[in-house]
Amino acid sequence: MRDYQEEARLDALRQLKLLDTPPAESFDRITRMASQIFGLPVAAVSLTDHDRQWFKSRVGIEHWSIPRDKAPCAQVAETVEPLVINDFLADPVYADSLLARNGTRFYAGAPLITTGGYGLGSLCVLGAEPREATPAELQALADLAAMVMAQIELQHAFGRIDPVSGLPTRTQFRDDLIDLARDFSGDERFAVVVDLARDDQIGKMARVLGGSRVDEMVREAAVAISAALEPTRSVYHVASTQFAFLSPSGVEQVSYMDSLRSGFDQLRASSSSRFVTSLAIGVRRFVLGETSADDVLRGAISAAQDARMTDGGVDLYSAMRDKTHRRQFGLLNDLGVALEAPGQLRLVFQPRIELQTGRCVGAEALLRWRHPTLGDISPAEFIPLVEQTSLARSVTQWVLEAGLDQLAAWTGAGTPITISINISASNLAEADLVERIQFGLLKRRLRPEQLEVEVTESAIMEEPDQASAMLRQLAENGTCVAIDDFGTGQSSLAYLQRLPAQVVKIDQAFVRNLTRTQGPDVVLVETMIGLGHKLGYEVVAEGIETVEAAEILTNAGCEEGQGFLFGRAMDVVQFDAWLADGLHGRKKDAHAA
Ligand code: C2E
Ligand code: MG
Ligand code: MG
Repeated sequence: MRDYQEEARLDALRQLKLLDTPPAESFDRITRMASQIFGLPVAAVSLTDHDRQWFKSRVGIEHWSIPRDKAPCAQVAETVEPLVINDFLADPVYADSLLARNGTRFYAGAPLITTGGYGLGSLCVLGAEPREATPAELQALADLAAMVMAQIELQHAFGRIDPVSGLPTRTQFRDDLIDLARDFSGDERFAVVVDLARDDQIGKMARVLGGSRVDEMVREAAVAISAALEPTRSVYHVASTQFAFLSPSGVEQVSYMDSLRSGFDQLRASSSSRFVTSLAIGVRRFVLGETSADDVLRGAISAAQDARMTDGGVDLYSAMRDKTHRRQFGLLNDLGVALEAPGQLRLVFQPRIELQTGRCVGAEALLRWRHPTLGDISPAEFIPLVEQTSLARSVTQWVLEAGLDQLAAWTGAGTPITISINISASNLAEADLVERIQFGLLKRRLRPEQLEVEVTESAIMEEPDQASAMLRQLAENGTCVAIDDFGTGQSSLAYLQRLPAQVVKIDQAFVRNLTRTQGPDVVLVETMIGLGHKLGYEVVAEGIETVEAAEILTNAGCEEGQGFLFGRAMDVVQFDAWLADGLHGRKKDAHAA
C-alpha cells in the first residue's frame, strides 16, 4: 500500500502529462551538459512512476525505463534530496541493484522538484568506475535540475494560461473537469459561460477602438467575474470573449439562475463597454462523469447564444434547441458539399397557367435536395438557413445555371414557355447579379424576356432601396421581375408603387381555402387583385387547389395561376409528359364545364 504522500506525488507527475511522451531537444540539451560536466558517458532525466523509472531524456542508455525497485533515482524523488553513490559495490542498499549488476559503480542525482514541493524524479549521471563528486559538480547538477523543472513547468503552462486575462484556458478546464469527474462522479453541477459580446460587436470595437481596447475589456471582465465568485472557484477563459466556471455542488437550479442573474446585473451595469456590447450567460446542467468537457462547454456556449434573445440575458441549455442548431449547422455544411457533388441537387418545375385559356405559359423552377443520409430536405427548411450565409450566392448561381440550361433545352425543342427562378434577399446585395444573369442568358442565346426572377415581398422589405435599385437594373435589362408571396411581407403601398416589377404573385395563404361561402377571403383576394392591377402589375395566384378557387380568381381578373389543381412541381421528364398530355387543357375544360 502506497501512502497518501506518494499518491499525491504520482498525481502531480501525471498532471504534467510527461510520461511516455517523445524525446525533446530542450531536455536532451540539459542531459548532454550534465554528462559533459561530469565527464561521464551516461546521464538522464529520470521520472519516478509507480513501478518504473522512465527517461524523458537520456545519453548513453539504450532503454526507456528500468524497474523502480532499488533505483537510486526513486530515492531522490521520494526524499527530494540529492544523492551521491561513490561506489555501488560498497553501498549496503544498492550493491545488489540492477544498475550495480550491469556494471554501474558511480551515481549522482539532483531532485526534480515541482513548485508544489513534489519530487518527480532526478537528473542523474552514472559512471562505470567508483568516483567522488566535487561540490562544484553537485552545484552544477542542482542548477541543471532546476533548468529541467523550469522547462517542464513552462511546457505545462503553455496553452493553459491565457496571456490576455491570465486565467486558465479551455485546456485547463477540460483537465480539471476530468479530475473532478474522477473524484465526484455522479454529482450534478452547472457549467456557466459568460459571453461578453456578440462577434459583430467585437469586430466593430476592434475596428473602431483597436484590438487593445478589446483586450482591456476582457481583462476588466476577468477581474470582475473572478471577484464575483468565491475565491475557491476557478474562472476559465475558454474563448476570446467567453469565460466559464462551475457551480458549487448541491445548488438548486432556480435559485442558482436567480443568483447569476442578479450577480451579473452589476457586472453589466459597471462594465466600461456596456453601451457597445451585450453580455449573455448560458448555463448547462450536467452530471460529472457523464458528459464530456467539450460537450459541457459547447452546451453552455450554445445556451449563452440563445440567452441573447431572452430578457435577463441568462438561459438554460436545452437539448432540443441544441439538436435543432446542430441539424441546421450540419445541413449548411452538407449543402456546401452538395453544391459541388453531382446528383444531390435538382430542379423541379411547376407549371404556370393562363387562367382564361388554361394554357401553360411558364414554369417555376423549385430547388430539391436529396441528402445522402437524411433523404429529401424541403427548401422551406434549408433555404431560410442558406439565406443567412454566404452560400446564398452559390445556391442562386446553381439554380440560375440549371434553370437556364433547361430553358435552353425547351427553347431548342420549340416548347414556348418561360421560366421563373427564385432569388434570396442577400442576392440583391450582390453587385454582379445582373451581370451573371445576363451572361447566363447570352451564353445560351436566350432572350431576357424568357426569364423571370422572383423575389419575396419580405426580402424586398429587408433593404427596400437596395432591392429597388437591383430590380430596376434587371427590368432595364428586359428580365421580368415578380414579387413573390405577395400579401405576407407588410410592404407599404408607397414602396409597392415604386417597385420596378411587372408581376405580383399572391401568396397561397390567401388562395388555398378560397370558397364562395367564405365571404371575407373572396373579398380580400379580389381587393388584392384590384390593387395589383391599379399599381400596374400582372397578377398571378399561387396555391390554386380547387376548381372553385380557379373560377373565383379568373372572374376577379387574375391573369395567371399555379397550384396542385393544374400541376405539382415535376422533374423535367414528368413535366414534358404532362405538357404533351395536354392535361392542363383538360383541367381547364373541366372547370369551364
Ligand atoms: P415559393 O417560391 O412561393 O414556391 C411555391 C411553393 O408552394 C412551392 O413549395 C410549391 O411546391 C408549393 N405549391 C405550389 N402549388 C401549391 C398548391 O397548390 N398547394 C400547396 N399547398 N403548395 C403549393 P416548395 O417547392 O416547397 O418551396 C418552398 C419555398 O422555398 C418557395 O416558395 C421558395 O420561397 C423557396 N424556394 C424553393 N426553391 C428555391 C430556390 O431555388 N431559390 C430560393 N431562393 N428559394 C427557393
Ligand atoms: Mg416562388
Ligand atoms: Mg410564393
